[in-house]
Amino acid sequence: MGGVVGVYGFSKEWRMARFIYYSLLALQHRGQENCGIVTFNGETLNYYKGSGFVDQVFSKPETLEKLQGWIGIGSVSSISQENPEKIQPVIVWEPIPIALCYDGKILNFRELAEKEGINCEDEAEFLARLFSVELEKTGKPMEAIASFMGKVKGAYSLIALTGRGEMVVARDRCGVKPLTIGSFGFDYGVVASESCVMDVIGADFKNDIQPGEAYIFDEHSIERRQVLKPNPRFCAFEYVYYARPDSIINGKSIYEVRMKIGEELAKEHRVNGGEVVLGVPETAIPFAVAYSNKTRTPLGIGFVQTGRRVRSAIKPTEFERIVGVQLKLNPIRAAIAGKKVVLVDDSVVRGTTTKNTVNLMRNKMGAKEVHVRIGSPRLIAQCPFGTDVPPKDELIAVHLNAEEVSKVVGADTFHWLSLKGLVRSIGIPRKNLCLGCFTGKYPVLAG
Ligand code: SF4
Repeated sequence: MGGVVGVYGFSKEWRMARFIYYSLLALQHRGQENCGIVTFNGETLNYYKGSGFVDQVFSKPETLEKLQGWIGIGSVSSISQENPEKIQPVIVWEPIPIALCYDGKILNFRELAEKEGINCEDEAEFLARLFSVELEKTGKPMEAIASFMGKVKGAYSLIALTGRGEMVVARDRCGVKPLTIGSFGFDYGVVASESCVMDVIGADFKNDIQPGEAYIFDEHSIERRQVLKPNPRFCAFEYVYYARPDSIINGKSIYEVRMKIGEELAKEHRVNGGEVVLGVPETAIPFAVAYSNKTRTPLGIGFVQTGRRVRSAIKPTEFERIVGVQLKLNPIRAAIAGKKVVLVDDSVVRGTTTKNTVNLMRNKMGAKEVHVRIGSPRLIAQCPFGTDVPPKDELIAVHLNAEEVSKVVGADTFHWLSLKGLVRSIGIPRKNLCLGCFTGKYPVLAG
């Protein structure tokens, strides 16, 4: 799981490192383990990478100063790396220097590496090597990426920077992971996992990179080609949980989808006599607003966030999860005490977060009743395409039904959104969505 960005300045006066830095801050929610930036200054690829949050890794102003150049790419990732060289964007220097970052998962990595005679253990490095070899063979970046896309099977939203000053962009034919494009007049072009990046750096959002599409940016032009026949299977979890509410992905506003989810929840699982609706920050806030509007139940502010936004569902240990919960949410007693509370959250993974929250509300804050409503269907399977979902045996929905979960987490009632309700909310036909972690059935991602 990660976020990628590339910014191509059409004048050599531009210094893109700072633009990439702000873009990565805007994508921080997509990966919090490590990050990196690579720039091209006309001579070589300059890079800096490290483990931690973006503002920690790039805390010294001179770090960005040293990253000179009018083209840059960057990445945030949720996958921890012991070897800093493996942090994305990865760089290979031969046969042609390539820096590459991607969000996704390559399904035929080992098989293809063997077939192509590329000896390497790291997926990102393999992709960079493969593209470098293709570029040497063809000499032309569009031909190279077309051949590359014909061979690689999996989910990828990918940006590469060549040591010749070209920026290469590709999205797999199913478009599982998001990728968007924008520009600032004729000054620079931007490609990023989410459109919120365009707003943050002052560019205009243009469109999604379409499934199976590739772009080449060079100093003279932007070339676009539909390399593979599109077969859209957009990740539904982006709408529920991962993407920022100010992003537009696959033509749909995340905010609007989340508001619809709240309305669907209200239709499916209304709490009669609820006295206050509280959304768990931040993702579930639009769900709660819409639920409150629809049911005419007063909306409250139930929590104050302490510290950074910690994505507690994907923290690896029990201790970290509990610390994450406490850091993330401090309930507001006055909003909760003595009330019949409708607690709206985005998802339930292991149930740890929900149990802690319900326990706090009931036993410490004095809630009269706590009714939990979840803005996503039951999470029952892992994601083979690179999204961090814990192993199946740790997912509470695999083992328990709603009534049983309600007992385990200590709620009065508990309900998930239905699959149909989610699809209706997203507004994209079900056949064009990946719903794998909710159904256990995955799209076939051919090359
Ligand atoms: S399996 Fe789930 S998280 Fe993975 S791409 Fe499909 S919907 Fe998204």
